[in-house]
Amino acid sequence: MQAAQRVHYNQALEYSIEQANKAGIPVIVYFGLTDDFPEANARHFHFMIEGLIEVEKKLAERKIPLIVQHISPPEGVINLSNKARMVVVDRGYLNIERKWRSRAAQNISCPLIQIETNSVVPVETASPKEEYAAHTLRKKIADFRTEFLNDIPARKLKNLGLEKFADLSSIELTPVKKTVKNLNLNSSVKKTSHFKGGFTAAQDHLETFISDKLADYPEKSSDPSEDFLSHLSPYLHFGQISPVYIARKIKSSGKPGTDEFLEQLIVRRELSINFIYYNKNYDSSLQKILPEWAFSTLQEHKDDPREYLYNLSELEEAKTHNPYWNAAQKEMLITGKMHSYMRMYWGKKILEWSPSPQDAFEKALYLNNKYHLDGRDANAFAGVAWCFGKHDRAWQERDIFGKVRYMNSSGLERKFPMQKYISRVNKLS
Ligand SMILES: Cc1cc2nc3c(=O)[nH]c(=O)nc-3n(C[C@H](O)[C@H](O)[C@H](O)COP(=O)(O)OP(=O)(O)OC[C@H]3O[C@@H](n4cnc5c(N)ncnc54)[C@H](O)[C@@H]3O)c2cc1C
Repeated sequence: MQAAQRVHYNQALEYSIEQANKAGIPVIVYFGLTDDFPEANARHFHFMIEGLIEVEKKLAERKIPLIVQHISPPEGVINLSNKARMVVVDRGYLNIERKWRSRAAQNISCPLIQIETNSVVPVETASPKEEYAAHTLRKKIADFRTEFLNDIPARKLKNLGLEKFADLSSIELTPVKKTVKNLNLNSSVKKTSHFKGGFTAAQDHLETFISDKLADYPEKSSDPSEDFLSHLSPYLHFGQISPVYIARKIKSSGKPGTDEFLEQLIVRRELSINFIYYNKNYDSSLQKILPEWAFSTLQEHKDDPREYLYNLSELEEAKTHNPYWNAAQKEMLITGKMHSYMRMYWGKKILEWSPSPQDAFEKALYLNNKYHLDGRDANAFAGVAWCFGKHDRAWQERDIFGKVRYMNSSGLERKFPMQKYISRVNKLS
């Protein structure tokens, strides 16, 4: 278990149980906790560990042992694999997650099976190549959107206790809380009290969303002064809830807003997965990720004079001249989650206030991934790249942005009661 940190609706776990039952052997769930995951800090770990403690409890209810070791995930898999008939892994799309799985696969002698766990339509089934934009992917997954929304029932494991298996009885089952004590965490960002990790909290957000917000989602979810979002992104990021489960619950509610929400959850989210899966440079060079029109127009305007230039610490500390941007930055610093609409405005302004587009891209990714609970996700890389023209079209040409879409404060003021947003954020602090 690595990317799908859940017991409920976990296709990899259910497949393991099915295979173990056929072979008449037990299942052990293994999790390698590494304290140097790129860009991860105490905020992310705290949320993840809350989820893992719940995983441990839910597995115990199903009499399935969990081993959590303070070790790089593939090394732990390699060590334990000499006692295994088969290793089943969940699926992660980031470069590091793919490297881990390849390293394990190349260094164990039993079969290693990877199961798609964190998307609705498996990434290669959806498309064999990097897609240009949402409209090109939407057509391709239209038919699959129902095919992959099947129920994932919990199977019963037949062979329970490890004690019957001599070579397994010596395995030490370390509890999550004990392993966590040895972690040497980057404490540059403290935990947030605004979100609690784990499936139960995710399910609470989902139920509240369906009962109180879904019907108004199309009209009100863009308004940062209101709260009509699901808040599921941190849970999806850690795989604490299944996108298949969310989609099934939303569909079965029969409420208006269903199509608009599923467009975000399936089309937009899986476009991000498609991007980072087929473009390994997703976190490095704008030149290698942007469509030609976007990169060349930004290059043509890279020496345009900038009215404001902010360095990283001025941005980080929310010390710009712009109250809306500062409020958005503070919302992220305090809660670990900025409103979706403000994320677009926030990224666009970093482009406007930085010496070059590449410098802006790096600063935006750094801040996004450091403070957001859902940072370092496929959506993080696609969302930030979108501010620079990825998955978008050309607009009217202007300074600095060239033909890349521009956003300004008067647009925010025209659409939303922005003072209400500022007071909402001020109340947070
Ligand atoms: C500059 C920028 C940075 C972003 N950084 C992140 C990030 O670090 N992590 C992250 O998960 N998302 C990121 N996004 C995408 C989007 O803003 C968030 O997914 C959304 O705000 C999450 O809140 P929610 O779950 O309450 O959204 P809801 O509106 O309730 O949406 C439900 C789910 O649909 C998906 N979704 C919604 N909007 C988008 C979108 N625009 N693109 C792809 N999927 C979407 C998400 O999985 C989300 O959890 C970023 C967008 C931009 C423009």
